[in-house]
Amino acid sequence: MQKTTQQIIVGLGERSYAIDIGAGLLTRTPLFNALPQQILLLTNTVVGPLYAEQVLDQLSQHKVIVHTIDDGEQAKSLVNYGAIMDTLIQHNFNRDCAIIALGGGVVGDLAGFVAATYQRGVRFYQIPTTLLAQVDSSVGGKTAINHPGGKNMVGAFYQPQAVLIDTECLQTLSDRDYACGLAEVVKYGIIADADFFTWLEAHVQELNARESAALTYAIQRSCQIKAEVVAADEHEQSVRALLNLGHTFGHAIEAAHYDTWKHGEAVAAGTIIAAQLMFQLGELTAVEVTRIENLLQSLHLPVRAPLMQLEQWQAFMQRDKKVQDGTIRLVLPTAIGSATIRPMADWQMIGEAIKAMST
Ligand code: NAD
Ligand code: MG
Repeated sequence: MQKTTQQIIVGLGERSYAIDIGAGLLTRTPLFNALPQQILLLTNTVVGPLYAEQVLDQLSQHKVIVHTIDDGEQAKSLVNYGAIMDTLIQHNFNRDCAIIALGGGVVGDLAGFVAATYQRGVRFYQIPTTLLAQVDSSVGGKTAINHPGGKNMVGAFYQPQAVLIDTECLQTLSDRDYACGLAEVVKYGIIADADFFTWLEAHVQELNARESAALTYAIQRSCQIKAEVVAADEHEQSVRALLNLGHTFGHAIEAAHYDTWKHGEAVAAGTIIAAQLMFQLGELTAVEVTRIENLLQSLHLPVRAPLMQLEQWQAFMQRDKKVQDGTIRLVLPTAIGSATIRPMADWQMIGEAIKAMST
């Protein structure tokens, strides 16, 4: 097995941290440098049985409490947050403890929020095990739990000490969750790096086969791009919003069809609508739209949105956090490799793009 490790530094001054990426890193000793004695390992009922033992083997010199939550988005809850706090307090965890997240974005977001708030903040480490968590949620320090009134309603910006990405973990991921992660990978190419987009086009086969060398590069480049954007705008006042390409349309699809569409799938369909809109505006060529569509499709992602009334799109899209004074602001590709954030009031034009890219 290839054991070369790639390292990305997320440059945030004194909150900077390293992301190590490679095949087989779960068996590396030590997993992380300078871990404290007391460790809470947070995982879920799917990932724990697959990978917790490997992690625990590396932590035999530490006092580790494993806390396992249910699978699924609903586990990112106030109830689980409270239960983890109970565990930490029952076991007399002090400020010199660490929380390690082993799992996808759900486990990572919850663990991060626990770490941000237990005794006003303790050390936090991430071992993301979905492609989405590896390229997206483990970079940038957003942590959150859901409230019955809305997703990610309670949260904090809180950076980890370090992130360890083992590409081998992706071998057990479902095809749909794997493709969802690829939607975010393609997004990075479109918003920031034409060469990376071209590289993705040339490595579709390797990516679909989950080959570790291709995965290591794709994850590394994705983390690098996200890290650069986050370093420029940690608290999402400006350019960090570019990471939302395809997401405003995507969120509307997810809201209307939450039981059948996954986030990454909705983002893929949303990305095509954004590209189509720019084609209509004369700012993206037909060739570029086709390249985006072909790449997403070859990675087994949907490229047409479900049929919905324009009023429904509008209602859901108006809830977007980028809406300013009632006007929606969309992230739109100006070329393969660059994007812009633009206020858009022309709903006829938006509706045309949606219609062209729906079935
Ligand atoms: P998830 O954590 O629910 O994981 C998806 C599924 O894969 C789950 O069933 C999980 O148990 C399973 N799984 C995880 N790793 C596996 C593995 N190696 N093998 C087999 N199965 C595995 O979902 P996700 O897509 O990873 O993350 C979605 C969450 O991330 C959402 O809550 C979202 O809000 C959040 N998110 C956060 C950020 C951020 O910046 N913090 C960014 C994007 C998304
Ligand atoms: Mg996303």
